[in-house]
Amino acid sequence: MIRPAHPAGPPPREAPIEVPVPSLVVLVGPAGSGKSTLAARLFAADEVLSSDALRAAIGGDAANQRATRPAFAVLHREVRRRLAGGRLVVVDATNVELTARRALVRLAADAGLAATAIVLALRATEVHARNLGRSGRVVPADVVDRHLAAMARLGHTPEAIATSLRNEGFAAAAVVTTPPELDALAIARSRSTHHPLSAVSDAARG
Ligand code: GDP
Ligand code: MG
Repeated sequence: MIRPAHPAGPPPREAPIEVPVPSLVVLVGPAGSGKSTLAARLFAADEVLSSDALRAAIGGDAANQRATRPAFAVLHREVRRRLAGGRLVVVDATNVELTARRALVRLAADAGLAATAIVLALRATEVHARNLGRSGRVVPADVVDRHLAAMARLGHTPEAIATSLRNEGFAAAAVVTTPPELDALAIARSRSTHHPLSAVSDAARG
């Protein structure tokens, strides 16, 4: 196909998010913001750990809040195990609370690996509309509002949110605020430079 010298088309996309392998990717966003959809688009199923899936496995139902504590215990144990095994781990949970993010940043640090945040900071009306359109369970609106309020504590601009997250210990934070930005999100995998396992395999390769 002959391409015109100056093709008209969609505007250039943002640079892809660099994701070192191994490392930890933490999705941050209210219920309904599109985390699980994004995770399925960007990552392999065996790279994603979902709190809803673990709640369902443990409590028989993704909405079973009594399964929350054991689900997160399993999630953290599994994050630790996989990172120690040199794998890329993506945590699909709201992570809107500081305590949730802090625990994950610590697991990455313990493994000597970077943590990257991907933040879905869409407008409240968009999040509520998406939540209502969910194929699985619809989360109660007041719960979504609580998630949105917790998110607001990170800041009100993408720059402020990214700065908050870097101050929490994330190596990088990508923040999207509109559906087109979310659709355009892409990742570029790179080899983790500071993990003992990659040093071992480098030595083995000579
Ligand atoms: P989560 O609760 O953050 O995991 O959000 P989900 O991934 O379950 O998405 C919530 C709802 O929004 C679902 O009904 C999705 O089909 C819808 N959704 C997710 N991503 C997109 C998107 O990029 N575009 C549109 N139009 N809908 C989306
Ligand atoms: Mg989900």
